[in-house]
Amino acid sequence: MLQLKSIVKTYGEGQFAVNALKGIDLNFRKSEFVSVLGPSGCGKTTLLNIIGGLDKYTDGDLIINGVSTKEYKSSDWDTYRNSAIGFVFQNYNLIPHQNVLSNVELALTLSGVDKVERKRRAKIALEKVGLKGLEHKLPNQMSGGQMQRVAIARALVNDPDIILADEPTGALDSETSIQVMELLKEVAKDRLVIMVTHNPTIAKKYSTRIITLLDGKVTGDSNPFLNTDTELQKKDSGKKQVKDSKMKFATAFRLSLSNLFTKKARTILTAIAGSIGIIGIALVLSVSTGFSTYINNLQASTLSVYPVTISESTIDLTDFEKLINKNVSDEMLQQKLTEYVYTRQMFGDLSNMLKSNQLSDEYVNGYVEKFIEKENEKAKNTENGWSYCLQKNYGFDVNDYIYSEIKLGLSAGVGGKFDMPVDQLVRFLEGMFDEGISASDMNISASFIREYIPTMSEIPDNQSLISSQYELLKGKWATEEDEVILVVDKYNRISDITLALLGIKSIDGINKSNYTVTFGGGDKFSFDELLQKKFYYIKNDVRYISNGDGTYNDQTYINTTDTVYAGKSLSTGNDFLDDIDTEIKVVGIVRLKENVSQGVLDTGIAYTSKLVAKILNDNKSSAIVNDVKSRAESNRNVLVNAWGEPMVSALKTTCQETERTLAGNPQVSKLYFYSVDYDAKENLKLYLDQWNDAEGRTEETKVHYSDSTEMLFKALNSIVDAVGIVLICFTAISLVVSSIMIGIITYVSVVERTKEIGILRSIGARKKDISRIFNAETFLTGLFAGLIGITATYLLTIPINLIVGTLIENVGNIASLKITHAVVLVVVSFILTLIAGLIPSRIAAKKDPVVALRTE
Ligand code: ADP
Ligand code: MG
Repeated sequence: MLQLKSIVKTYGEGQFAVNALKGIDLNFRKSEFVSVLGPSGCGKTTLLNIIGGLDKYTDGDLIINGVSTKEYKSSDWDTYRNSAIGFVFQNYNLIPHQNVLSNVELALTLSGVDKVERKRRAKIALEKVGLKGLEHKLPNQMSGGQMQRVAIARALVNDPDIILADEPTGALDSETSIQVMELLKEVAKDRLVIMVTHNPTIAKKYSTRIITLLDGKVTGDSNPFLNTDTELQKKDSGKKQVKDSKMKFATAFRLSLSNLFTKKARTILTAIAGSIGIIGIALVLSVSTGFSTYINNLQASTLSVYPVTISESTIDLTDFEKLINKNVSDEMLQQKLTEYVYTRQMFGDLSNMLKSNQLSDEYVNGYVEKFIEKENEKAKNTENGWSYCLQKNYGFDVNDYIYSEIKLGLSAGVGGKFDMPVDQLVRFLEGMFDEGISASDMNISASFIREYIPTMSEIPDNQSLISSQYELLKGKWATEEDEVILVVDKYNRISDITLALLGIKSIDGINKSNYTVTFGGGDKFSFDELLQKKFYYIKNDVRYISNGDGTYNDQTYINTTDTVYAGKSLSTGNDFLDDIDTEIKVVGIVRLKENVSQGVLDTGIAYTSKLVAKILNDNKSSAIVNDVKSRAESNRNVLVNAWGEPMVSALKTTCQETERTLAGNPQVSKLYFYSVDYDAKENLKLYLDQWNDAEGRTEETKVHYSDSTEMLFKALNSIVDAVGIVLICFTAISLVVSSIMIGIITYVSVVERTKEIGILRSIGARKKDISRIFNAETFLTGLFAGLIGITATYLLTIPINLIVGTLIENVGNIASLKITHAVVLVVVSFILTLIAGLIPSRIAAKKDPVVALRTE
């Protein structure tokens, strides 16, 4: 069954060549106990290694079951070793960090036997060698005899055809030697056992055949076996059908894990060192994520305060930069700057920045209705919520249509309740102040009140935008035309003037000489009290009464210098609203969220876009609007005060503007786009550009938008990105360093485990399996390092946030590691260490098993 034909083994080349075997011809029977005797260095071990497929013969042929091994590939040798051979060594060669059972199981693991079967067969093998009950001991807890018995059990567990034992009793005392020999004799009953020994007594006592070797040649054979042709015919009949030996990943992991556990301190230190790079990058990532979230919040709130705007005339500030270098002549460029002063075309430059947009259908057919609205529908319903929110302005003041009962008590002794548009009182107050401001102070106009104390705003048609900025304190959100909400600031305040304008506080006195106003009516109001407050909506046909002579009287007009209001004395007040049934209810009170610096709504009243639509719809067919439409351009001044004087404030030059002021023209005059973030805004602008880039677009029909926050955030964003990238580059270096270090440590591990590599190869492990073990080791180290790094980062973010939180207000959690980043970093960590370990694991795989086994 096993035939050696002129086997020659030469180590080295040329003048250093050592002829270990010089032409061995031997045949072995299927079952016999062969002892190989000979002095040290005569080639016994070499012979055994060649028979066992550990070493390759230089010349000749080894015939196994009638098949030549000349064409054997390395995988064939692996399979052969794993299934047909069992090795027993002088120094036992057990894997120190695996217990007895696992050591025995290993050969079965390599041949892919499942776990339960593996355990069962290993236990049987251990029982056979008399080691029942010692399965869970580690090799170093056993005596030499016991270890050799474990080695025999391991050799037997795969039920191999051949057992090769290299001086199995060489390290044992005579008593244990006898036990081991008895065991081998028993084993040899049904298989071939070839044992190397230099103890002739033992050889004679136990073996059935003694071969003597001297200087690489057979010098004696007590019971030679002469091969017959019939034997050769049988070729494959004796060959076992075996699977290729291969190690599962799980086995590689188990081996590496138990090895790592035996070196806990080193593993932990390595993992910690490896984690430093990860901690660095994770911290940079978490801080830059936190910072960009902070900037995004800042940006989102700024973007909603300064939306991208399209209005009928606009100043494009972004062009200003470009204009500085415009019209620089060649002469100036040639540096003739020592003689002349040049003219800069400033007026032209400035007027270039002024752009006029025609939004009406006459000019840009379908711009708002189709182009803008179509995109707006998409923007409202993008995958991640919304990208921007569109608000339309129709050129009239909603203030003019919301009325309140205002309490006025003038210091002059007159006073009472007055029903007037919420905004009207501002004009009234302005008038009061303007009178006090002398002609020389004309540059300070009291209209600053209206600029700085806005009272009403439209709720953008996007609940998620509103909910992201405001929290509901009481009641509900306004959704209908007759519902409004009250907006308070972050300390639950509304300004005194606003409260007076809303008719909640009273104005008790106005001192024109030092611009002071005395307010009455309490300093705090309960939510419930405010929720009972009502406003009124009044349409044109109620407000403007025709005088029959082509003029209209504004029922609500108040003359600040007179004590007469709408034909009534200030002292008696008016009950204008008593007949009005269109009430507007306050349905909720909302407050700006703590982390939002500015929101889209002004403190005061916020109304719905449905109300705007209603006002437009009601008034486009009102008497005064129809009248204005029918008149000639020069004759549109329809409004007079109580004394028949034209009202200057309502004097508009074009038909369209007068119509608009009277809420009679449903043509958009301004568009505001509140973007959710910078990217959404950029995308919006790209979309808006499409209109202008369309074919056949003339300068007339182009529509220009203005974006006042553009430059600021462009700069800020690129700075944050740049800083982040630089920091990540720096920390990436430490990651590379730690990877290299892990590579080195793996190499050390390879050196340390050389013996183990030899053992594994001797029981049939492939080169691939060996590299797999070390890859598993680096993989595990990398994984530990990654996990330690992420944990440490999460812990570190706590103090970082505490410190930064006390230094900068409103910054929130500046360091916050995203789960996705954490996962990616762990993956990066083990991929990097895996790469770092590739070279050492290749080195391990390439180790010659014979050399590896000889290593101590
Ligand atoms: P034995 O087991 O009989 O003591 P070996 O088979 O180990 O002898 O060695 C036989 C001869 O081959 C010795 O001269 C030894 O020095 C030589 N030899 C064994 N292995 C190698 C090797 N890897 N490289 C070079 N020479 C070797
Ligand atoms: Mg030897």
